[in-house]
Amino acid sequence: MKDFNKKQINNKFNIEFNNKYSNNKLANRIYKMTCDESLKYFNSSLEGLNDKQVNTNQNKYGKNIIEEKRRKTVLEVFIEQYLNILVILLILASILSYFTGGVENTIVIIVVITLNAILGTIEYFKAEKSLKSLKKMSSLYISVIRNNKKTKINFDDVVVGDIVCLKSGDIIPADMRIITFNSLEVDESMLTGESALVEKNNSVLSSETSLGERKNILFRGTKVISGNATGIVYSVGMNTEIGNIAKMMQSVKRKKSPLEKSIDKFSKELAILILTICILVFIMGIYQNISTMDSLMFAISLAVAAIPEALQTIVTIVLAISTEKLAREKAIVKDIKAIETLGCVDVICSDKTGTLTSNKMSVEKFYYQDRIYNNIDINSIFGKGLILCNDSDINNLNNNSINTDEAIIRYIQKTNVDIVNIRQKHQRLFEIPFSSINKMAVTVNLVDRKKIMFVKGGSDKVLGLCEMSFTNKENIKKIINENSLLGYRILALGCKDLTNTNITSNKTLLKHVNNLKFLGLIFLADPIKEGVVESIKLCQDYHTRVIMITGDHALTATSIGSKIGIPSKNYLTGPELEKMTDEELLNKVEEVSIYARVSPSDKIRIVSLLQKKGHKVAFIGDGVNDSPALKKADVGVSMGINGTDVSKDASDVILMDDNIGTINNAIIRGRKVYQNIQNTILFLIAGNIAGIFMVLYTTFLNLPIPFAPVHLLFINLINDSLPAIAIGIEENGLSNREIYYPRNKDNGLLSKRVTKRIILEGLLIAICTIISYYIGLDDIYKARTMVFVTITVARLFYSFNCMGRFSLLYQRKQGYKINKTLIFSLIFGLVLINALLFIPSLRTLFDISLLTDKEILLSYGLGLVPAIMIQMFLMMRDKNRKKRKKRK
Ligand code: ADP
Ligand code: MG
Repeated sequence: MKDFNKKQINNKFNIEFNNKYSNNKLANRIYKMTCDESLKYFNSSLEGLNDKQVNTNQNKYGKNIIEEKRRKTVLEVFIEQYLNILVILLILASILSYFTGGVENTIVIIVVITLNAILGTIEYFKAEKSLKSLKKMSSLYISVIRNNKKTKINFDDVVVGDIVCLKSGDIIPADMRIITFNSLEVDESMLTGESALVEKNNSVLSSETSLGERKNILFRGTKVISGNATGIVYSVGMNTEIGNIAKMMQSVKRKKSPLEKSIDKFSKELAILILTICILVFIMGIYQNISTMDSLMFAISLAVAAIPEALQTIVTIVLAISTEKLAREKAIVKDIKAIETLGCVDVICSDKTGTLTSNKMSVEKFYYQDRIYNNIDINSIFGKGLILCNDSDINNLNNNSINTDEAIIRYIQKTNVDIVNIRQKHQRLFEIPFSSINKMAVTVNLVDRKKIMFVKGGSDKVLGLCEMSFTNKENIKKIINENSLLGYRILALGCKDLTNTNITSNKTLLKHVNNLKFLGLIFLADPIKEGVVESIKLCQDYHTRVIMITGDHALTATSIGSKIGIPSKNYLTGPELEKMTDEELLNKVEEVSIYARVSPSDKIRIVSLLQKKGHKVAFIGDGVNDSPALKKADVGVSMGINGTDVSKDASDVILMDDNIGTINNAIIRGRKVYQNIQNTILFLIAGNIAGIFMVLYTTFLNLPIPFAPVHLLFINLINDSLPAIAIGIEENGLSNREIYYPRNKDNGLLSKRVTKRIILEGLLIAICTIISYYIGLDDIYKARTMVFVTITVARLFYSFNCMGRFSLLYQRKQGYKINKTLIFSLIFGLVLINALLFIPSLRTLFDISLLTDKEILLSYGLGLVPAIMIQMFLMMRDKNRKKRKKRK
């Protein structure tokens, strides 16, 4: 869960944050307290709170929840439905029609608008509910100490006084005072606007200090990039600094997605066209000696009927339903706009460890004293180095994922040595924690009263820093290459005696990392994740290219690549990338599918160059080091189970099952959604165009107007909505071309094919309706009723032609499931029409004349004609398609 989008916090606030004090009195005191004082203040200790205290504090200070927005009441949402230019026009029309004598019309218009508003309100709350449940699924957890035990709890359950344990990759759950720390670096950019990392510690600050300068305070929503810490929570929920901003930003609106924007634009253009027609019709009406009032009424209702005002809502509903479906398929889409971008994705860049491989490492063997061994002597300096230059917490070994350090410690645990004791005996003096940029970890420990520096990291990297004879080095390189080719991740350990060197801080330590004594190699295996081979094959079948970008050794990467089906012939390494200009790399990105030994900045570079080539890129990653690339990519994808919180925060989609096959599903769904929305537009606009054709035809031929205003309202606001949604959520009916290939991002919503269909099929419906009109024309009220029946029936059945490019028969043969929602909406529509035709009171309300059986049959029959003709046409195309296939 992200509290706020960084962009939403404006610069003004950033500047304020850097210079101001908190509104919270305690916050302005706690940084001046010592660690002990702050623990005492909350009756807490390093053993954490007990259950009773947790309860008391939660009651006293509240839950750790940020209310992003004040919830709208039902009434507010309901009223909002009326604040729409078209609805206001309609209300005007209903008032006008009251004065011109038609009380019934007024009632009907009001009832229809109200029905529409009720539907809108229900939809709003449904969408809100599903959004909430999505949020719940992607909620964050954090380790706290309670009752002297480390436990993981939901962010919401953190209380004031809790002792929170933070490690790199965590998002900070509440405002807290640091108690212990270890090379702690924090990303506070979301509060301060500055991207540079901030070092934090537990020292006491004596003077008045502004929020941005409080080095011993951690703020909710900021991110731990490296190191670890424990802190005591002093503010939760809305009392945190970010909660304060939340109060200030309650009116921030959700940004519209490109799709929604292009629909906005499309609707506007259409509206202008329609309004022009309406003015024309109005003028013609006056010409024909129809009263001004009536012409105005008619022009207004024509506008309402022809403008697809339901389109916006329907697109939003379709997107929301698709998000829900994806969530059920274990892909949480955090930002609705990602769904449509997914449909364009043609390249997936994936991190290796944790996404393609399981990140369950195990130590397989060692190399020292010129030989491969299956075990080591724990008392040797090599063995000690492995225990001391290691950051895993023995008491909290994770079973889901086993990282490099944990794998080594697990191996050593098997030898029954007392690791805690060894670590205590050999105090750690300095350290540079592992980073993906350096690809190594450095510690300085007291070993037999000497200050020994251990350097553990990528084998090639550390070997480069070791002092040894040329032949010796070449020998070891050979072993590294041979074993990398087998897919092993290989680390090297080196050491150096720094007893006589003066080191003052962790920072100055880096200068001394050279001329090391080589101690040995550690070979780790990381099995390929279950199903990855199949998933990658599937992605490729669906024309999405998969690229591996990893910090690991090139040969390890290519070995894994060839096992899982990523082309491994061409690869590039970080050092090679550094030497290439953007132009040179641009020429390579189409061929190279494996990048090894890269740094986080290389990941961004590769993604942006691929984008420059016109690709839409999804990036899958799990680590802190992936988050810049996750943000840069068109769709950032993170891992729900083992991903770091920081990566989840930076991504648009979270895979709850950590399975990259899930992203393929999501991509396919993205392709479908777009097509479906296109089909919805086809359905809605073709129907509206038919109405416009009708009106234009009769106006220009000086014939009486074929619709009563209420009829148009009924069709547009009631009859059409259900089928439109049903088409929007259709699962089948798309051609292979549409599903198996990414959508061209330059193709707008109205493709040539759709435009052609809209005009031709709209015309077809119009022609049938005009025939119906002529049949009843001896009495204009009867004619209008027949027109009404024909056009509603035609549109209801026409919906079945909008589910894609195939005939229904072909779809059945292919075993496609019937679209139940569409069937339901057909039945519902037919029941409504018949109710209007046969219930006398409704007849008067809706200006419906009594028709003879023959007339009813005729108008129904004409309504069926367009659907049947289009089906026949589609069947012909199916046949041609088959023939073409056979010829191939
Ligand atoms: P990836 O991009 O595959 O997730 P990382 O950035 O996590 O890779 O790691 C890059 C390299 O750094 C590894 O191949 C390994 O050689 C080295 N490395 C990883 N973890 C550690 C560690 N805890 N200590 C020392 N070196 C490490
Ligand atoms: Mg990783």
